[in-house]
Amino acid sequence: MNDTLKTKAADSSAPTTSAIPSAPGSRAEPRGDRYDFFRVIQGYLKESAGLVDQFDEDTLTILSQPKQEIIIHFPVRLDNGRVGLFKGYRIQHNNILGPYKGGIRYHENVTLDDCKALAAMMTWKCALMNLPFGGAKGGIKFDPRSVSRGELERVTRRFIHALGSNIGPAHDIPAPDVGTNAQTMAWAMDTYVNTVGYLSHTSSKGVVTGKPLASGGTHGRAKATGQGLVHCVRYWAEEREFDLEGATVIVQGFGNVGSYAAALLSKLGASTIAVGDHTGYLYNPEGFNPHKLQEYVKKQGSIAGYPAGESISREEFFRLKADIFVPAALENQVTAAEASQLDVKLVAEGANGPCSPEGERILLDRGIDILPDVLANSGGVTVSYYEWVQNNRSESWTLEEVDSRLEAAMRRAYRKVMEMARQKGCSLRLAAYAVALARLMTVYNERQIWP
Ligand code: NAD
Repeated sequence: MNDTLKTKAADSSAPTTSAIPSAPGSRAEPRGDRYDFFRVIQGYLKESAGLVDQFDEDTLTILSQPKQEIIIHFPVRLDNGRVGLFKGYRIQHNNILGPYKGGIRYHENVTLDDCKALAAMMTWKCALMNLPFGGAKGGIKFDPRSVSRGELERVTRRFIHALGSNIGPAHDIPAPDVGTNAQTMAWAMDTYVNTVGYLSHTSSKGVVTGKPLASGGTHGRAKATGQGLVHCVRYWAEEREFDLEGATVIVQGFGNVGSYAAALLSKLGASTIAVGDHTGYLYNPEGFNPHKLQEYVKKQGSIAGYPAGESISREEFFRLKADIFVPAALENQVTAAEASQLDVKLVAEGANGPCSPEGERILLDRGIDILPDVLANSGGVTVSYYEWVQNNRSESWTLEEVDSRLEAAMRRAYRKVMEMARQKGCSLRLAAYAVALARLMTVYNERQIWP
């Protein structure tokens, strides 16, 4: 298959020792119409570097760009008999700590730069959670809702086939993200096992995580990101002496992360009074039954038409009074406009990059706490790691085992981030980046670059 264009970022331009541009104006804000997500993430990295003791400029230079950027145009036979050409990305940001790890996104707005931003965030997340993984992210630029199930399977299989040995259980391990799920991972694993895995005669179920349980998945993965987030909300509530019983929650994005976050918060007595997705927003002052809504979305594909709620606008959603806001959709949802309106005590970031830097500053100035993505949504990759370990060892852990390991891992990371934030007097986001960066710097200082 000759449809893979692979560029090694470090080779593609003249060497540079100050690869991270200064954070623009108010750190990084949208330039023109396009929100420059990668530049925002680079800005945070640069800012957090100043917080790391014995900070090393060379590590920062290395981390400023992904190691490899893979772009693939691949043909897929459509139901109408014609061939459609799809564009897929796999960005492998860094693997000094272990194999690349990160989700695959199916969305019409997927871009190379967004994948670079998300891949870099996976590097920080894995470093923060002390996992033996690096960071990666991939995606295909199309709307998965616009194709049939058969086409979706063929798109997935063709992409994984085209990636070939660029992924692998010891090299790069994809997982679900926006627009993909356990079924996508089952097709991905099966394709890999029957191509690259078959040729190498090795057990390679661990090539992806987030698989269905029967196909090599783990207990607790489906809810893991929401569960990790809810643990962080619980620790925050303990610190603030805030009673979650009777608290009100609003959730943007009711897919994997948002729906499990709502369901698990309801177990603690918190009630989700408004939800939103790509089709619109619903309000129910009595509180939604998150389990019923989750079932409805599984069948119908969105919250549209759910009977137990009143339809409201996006603007009305962001003006609602509530205790906790869980953004669990896409990046750049809380800009200055939304941040000035939000009437909550806490923003717990389920999505990656939901607050723009300007949005974040306004929230913090208004005394609204933020549990940052790199910490708050890291439960997903943590349980993905447990799945990978089980696959490698041919083991099957109980839900209780997975849950208790995740709880301990989240508490450890939460404490580290709080400690750093207190020591340095910085935001939790910069503290999370700084903890991650310190680990990466230590390893680069020990290993150096070779040859
Ligand atoms: P998903 O596809 O299951 O759900 C995405 C949700 O966002 C859907 O409800 C969709 O309707 C909604 N949405 C899409 N566009 C929207 C818009 N313009 N306005 C409002 N809602 C919109 O995806 P997911 O896996 O739940 O991921 C959600 C976020 O969490 C992403 O930022 C992802 O990167 C992040 N995340 C996911 C995981 C995971 O384990 N799945 C782990 C860490 C972080």
